Amino acid sequence: MKTIYLKKYLLISTIFSFVLILASSICLAQKVPPPEDFFGFKVGADFHLINYEQAVNYWKKLEEISGKIKLFEYGKSSEGRPMIFAAISSEENMAKLDHYREISKHLSLVRGLAEKKAEKLAQEGKAIVWIDGGLHATEVAPAQHIIQLTYDLLSDDSQKIKRILDEVIAMLVLPNPDGMDMVAEWYESNLGTPYETSRLPWLYQKYIGHDNNRDSFMLSVPEIQNINQVVHHEWYPHIFYNHHQTSPFPSLIFVPPDCEPTNPNLHPLLLRWQNFIGTGIAMAFESEGKQGVISRFLFDTWYPGYVTQVCDFHNIISTFSETFLYRYATPYFYTVMDFPEEYKDFTISMFFTNPWKGGWWHLQDAVEYCLTASKAVLDLAAKHREELIYAKYAMGSETIRRFQKEPPYGWIVPLEQRDKGVAAQLINKLITLDLEVYQAESSFTADGVSYPEGTYILPTSQPFGRFLKTLFEIQIYPDLRRYPSLWQSIVDPIKLKVPPLRTYDVLGWTLPLQMGVKTAAMNTPLDIKMKRIIKASLPGARISGSGHYAFVIPYKTNNSVIAINRLLKEEADVLWARESFNIGKKPFSPGAVIVPLSEFPLTKMRKLANELFLQVERIKQSPSVKTFKLKQPRVALYKPWISNMDEGWIRLVLENHEFPYTSVYNAEIKAGRLFDRFDVIILPNQNKDSIINGHKKGTMPAKYVGGISASGVRNLKQFIENGGTLVTLGSSCNLAVEEFKLPIKNILKPLKPEDFFASGLLVKITFDQNHPIAYGMPKEAAGFFALSPTFQILPVLKEQEKPAVVGKYAEENIILSGWMLGEKYLKNKAAVVEVPFGKGKIILLGFRVQHRGQTKGTFRLLFNSVFYGAIK
Ligand SMILES: [Zn+2]
Repeated sequence: MKTIYLKKYLLISTIFSFVLILASSICLAQKVPPPEDFFGFKVGADFHLINYEQAVNYWKKLEEISGKIKLFEYGKSSEGRPMIFAAISSEENMAKLDHYREISKHLSLVRGLAEKKAEKLAQEGKAIVWIDGGLHATEVAPAQHIIQLTYDLLSDDSQKIKRILDEVIAMLVLPNPDGMDMVAEWYESNLGTPYETSRLPWLYQKYIGHDNNRDSFMLSVPEIQNINQVVHHEWYPHIFYNHHQTSPFPSLIFVPPDCEPTNPNLHPLLLRWQNFIGTGIAMAFESEGKQGVISRFLFDTWYPGYVTQVCDFHNIISTFSETFLYRYATPYFYTVMDFPEEYKDFTISMFFTNPWKGGWWHLQDAVEYCLTASKAVLDLAAKHREELIYAKYAMGSETIRRFQKEPPYGWIVPLEQRDKGVAAQLINKLITLDLEVYQAESSFTADGVSYPEGTYILPTSQPFGRFLKTLFEIQIYPDLRRYPSLWQSIVDPIKLKVPPLRTYDVLGWTLPLQMGVKTAAMNTPLDIKMKRIIKASLPGARISGSGHYAFVIPYKTNNSVIAINRLLKEEADVLWARESFNIGKKPFSPGAVIVPLSEFPLTKMRKLANELFLQVERIKQSPSVKTFKLKQPRVALYKPWISNMDEGWIRLVLENHEFPYTSVYNAEIKAGRLFDRFDVIILPNQNKDSIINGHKKGTMPAKYVGGISASGVRNLKQFIENGGTLVTLGSSCNLAVEEFKLPIKNILKPLKPEDFFASGLLVKITFDQNHPIAYGMPKEAAGFFALSPTFQILPVLKEQEKPAVVGKYAEENIILSGWMLGEKYLKNKAAVVEVPFGKGKIILLGFRVQHRGQTKGTFRLLFNSVFYGAIK
């Protein structure tokens, strides 16, 4: 009886719960709430922006309801926000996500996978498609469209979306959480005021703002490190779609094909896929009757630091688009009168087939454009799933084969380096970028040079070998003026007016040169035993000698700079040798750091040496050498209300090397009494007018208007005259030269672009190693040059007013990597100058010593300026 009852109960309850599940799944399936129900307005509605937190809350709600979406946290942003993306696919695919990721990984990495097996895996796999929006946070539509796209994929029951969910795993990403919140907050605070469309007065990524799309091989900030990890080590997508929103007016969206120049190391199959996908997007627009699509205009594939380019070099077919933007969520009505002259007659061309004729442009329109483009990419991925998946394997295996029989066979990184720590950083960076790195298991000879066991070897014959090649080789830029008949038809005519044709970003970047690491290209195949490594070992710390007078730390590595900062923080006596000297037979160069043992016990030094891989010498007696006594510098870094990426890069580089500093704004510089508070003031790369005048009145809320003004310039002058040090970087050198009437001329000022042109390359600079600003520099180094002020010293009346040239451009063969027009103008001209001024000094760092955190070989010019500037 009891049993029967129990059975009956079980039966009833089973039926009941089945009905309940069925009912609830029907009911839940209907309950995916559209964004307008959740947020209270439609995505893209005028005057409304959804911030990151709200977007993620919506995602979480959808994840509770639907089995087709799953959220993944892949790290924290610079300001500590969780970075989350949404994976979306059919429920069957979602149950096997790991399996599909594994297939993609296997095909990407190629090794150990025969062609037949690869074909089978391609048949079985699903296309993984990354779509992000909002990397550049003021370009608001892309991030907003991600929210609508999530809903559309989960709720649309059309055949097209069903096919996408069956064949594709979509990764929907909001890659700049901090920026998305910052921009929404800024916009809301100004809504309805005259400043509704004002620019954001600070960077939309804590340190590097817009340069977050230039950091993808250097990986200096957490957001880009996290993207690198999830893309190149965990998910291995087949397509990477990066949305932007600065389409050149009056086009409404830019899509590939890109314009020239083309990076010569991109796989030809990849370029064809890129063009195919770009054309597919454009076709979707034409079939929906959406106007204004442009291609082969402005944007090119030359620079490898974009997020998309690093994907290209991992055989991921990347695409990007630039949708049109007015400002934030504010609409604008355009008439033909707003159009540039050459577009007023709506001429049709092959890559601009359907010109827009003006009218309203709302955020909603931009969101719709992003949606059309994203859905077109997903649709193409679904339709071409198998060949798309196989393409990765095809490119990787072709690259392996090609560089087995074609030079360069790879690069050797010798163990002997000026800064072994930075060399190890370079090797480890390559490993983080998913490149194969090996060490020789015995000594060997390559191209007539002998190397010991343990030497690092980077073969080009590896799946992503083309990436290695583009990072390590010398860039040879195609001067597009040489073959005008060839190029004329494929570049935009506007650019031809100003020779030469420039690229969208920099021309030369050879990474080992920027970092000051010695390498050798292999011109003959190398057949030796080697083992693959997953981490470069750093040089072992050593404290040698047994003297009780002092420690001596050679000053050639970037870690020795950190050592000084830690010693100063602990209030140890730190002396800086002003000359070279010997201890026994060991030579030390100027800048060697001498720390009396009485001031810093051995146990502490051992700890410091271990942490920073220092080679320290203990000495018996004071070396007979002149020294400076270093003090903890009180540093001010000028922070304008015009968001300045170079200012952010300086902050990042100073913090990474443990310099204390204070950011000072216009108000503080205008208030004066700077000498009481600071030893050194740094002006980042920024033009003189923008430093002095800042934002115009009426363009921004009052707090952010104006620059340091004439009073600020006077206060800076007084600061230096009292004994302070002003360090100017790049363009800000012009402020010092002109406002303080220095006996110096910037020789580039009068030159025309057709005579002199340099938009970012590496040049040869020689240094006076006996000058404190160049302590620890090699005699010759690569410097990053981008229309950098270049100095000629003028005669002076008094000898003590004579500027000292610390670094100058080489006598000949100035170009090391990239290209410039008018190389002759740089010959022997000054690049780094110290100018005595009153009781203080001005240090002009003309070229870009800390450019994008990449130029580790010249960072110390900034560091030395700070140490030297604080010496009284
Ligand atoms: Zn952008």
